[in-house]
Amino acid sequence: MRPALAEDEPEQAFERAPDPAARPGPDADLYVAGVELQRKRKWLAARRKFWQLLDRYPDSPYAPEAEDRSGPNAFLGIHPLGPIGPRERRIDVALMADGYRIREQRDSDEASQEHLQVLLREPLYRVYRPYFNFWRFNLASEDKGVDEPLPPEPDDELRARQQKRRRPKRGPKQYSTALDCREAGPQGQVWANPRRVWHYLQYLDEHDSLVIAFAQMGKLGMGGMGIATTGPRGVVVHEFGHAFIGLLDEYVVNSGKPPGIVNGLNATSDRKRVPWQHFLDAEVRGVGVFEGGASFQKGVWRPARGCAMNNGGGAYCPVCREAGVLSIYERVSPIDEVWPKQPVVEIAAGTRELPEFRVLPMAPVGHELKVRWILGHAPEVTSPAEKSGRAGRAAGASRRPGLPTPIGFRLGTVRRAMGTAGLPLPKGIRVSTRTKRVRDVGKVHIARMPMGLPRGRHLLTAIVWDPTPTRGGEKPWVLKDERGLLEARHEWLLVVQPARGKPAEPGK
Ligand SMILES: [Zn+2]
Repeated sequence: MRPALAEDEPEQAFERAPDPAARPGPDADLYVAGVELQRKRKWLAARRKFWQLLDRYPDSPYAPEAEDRSGPNAFLGIHPLGPIGPRERRIDVALMADGYRIREQRDSDEASQEHLQVLLREPLYRVYRPYFNFWRFNLASEDKGVDEPLPPEPDDELRARQQKRRRPKRGPKQYSTALDCREAGPQGQVWANPRRVWHYLQYLDEHDSLVIAFAQMGKLGMGGMGIATTGPRGVVVHEFGHAFIGLLDEYVVNSGKPPGIVNGLNATSDRKRVPWQHFLDAEVRGVGVFEGGASFQKGVWRPARGCAMNNGGGAYCPVCREAGVLSIYERVSPIDEVWPKQPVVEIAAGTRELPEFRVLPMAPVGHELKVRWILGHAPEVTSPAEKSGRAGRAAGASRRPGLPTPIGFRLGTVRRAMGTAGLPLPKGIRVSTRTKRVRDVGKVHIARMPMGLPRGRHLLTAIVWDPTPTRGGEKPWVLKDERGLLEARHEWLLVVQPARGKPAEPGK
């Protein structure tokens, strides 16, 4: 049998198999057959194909992946959980199972589904479900179990001596599993080995380094580094709160005060200085200043009595939910798509074929994003291309790499820019706007160029903004958006040429 990765062995760089179409051969055929059998969930037959490949062509470029797909701990495949959107404009989350043997994949599938259902019970994830892609990873584990904690880390000298003696026979129970889950926390909280998690994540060509890892035999859970590890399903909202939003614990198990400064921010009871002061000013129900948080009973204050970050189960408090919405918009632009794609549209003066401009906003469940159009004279100094190249990188492009076109500047500066760009157009000239529901696409917002647009350069801007849910007359989920994450703008430069100049390009 092929050995599993030993724990202390540095992981070897893993190369995905080449494209079988680009590098055909008998080894490629075996690889394709194995992958196809895995797709049909014929795990054991697939494994035999990969073993044949490894026996006959050990030096094949398909060998490393064949080994990874057929070892005692093995990658068996990826399957979308529910609808999947364009990966570059969605938050891709992988659900990975640990401690399920190759014959237990049905149980693993069910557990993935149940973890996702629990996550989507939290209103934040339910409302913004269309912003996410969820992927189920089928992983086979050799054993069913979670490593017991090893004795405290020895110093280097001691470690060197121990390595000579090799590991003692008796000791904490260790298991060979896909994600190498172990009891890492003081209460035996389960934690997946990030190296193993990231290793399997390579099978998803585009991802956001976000993983929900669940161990069949795990207790409680831990979250961080983009990885939420859970045992029982109930804690997934809590652990994903750590992993995805970077929230702190609100629960209190340690009596007394924390030894140092926790976060520096919520270590105060001063209502004027707590980070959620804007919730107090807005008098949001259920939000106050409660002593205890970050696991300590004293010296730290939290915003709500109950919260998923406190109880482990249940829903987030309003303060954590606001942070969650902002976390989502750090990764996804409110603008999903625009047409035409080119930033400059030339129009011949007097033309009757006036181009249309379309914007597809993201579509959360239960409320709609707002779209506003502005048409004005373009400032002469910069073209949108130059501007988006420079300012876009600073403002939005690197943070939200999926943006259709890098966004120049945000609403705060839009209003200022209006002063120069928004000069009044001649009377009666206005963009006409409408919306249209397009099948399999969504509600598209359309602006049509007005007739009689004077010669020169004009800037058409679409501003898309998420007001965030307001349930039953309650305050919106997001009360403070200092970085302007909830809105995005897209602009086109319209160049109206003299009639016999270059003909217009009717962009659709
Ligand atoms: Zn909270």
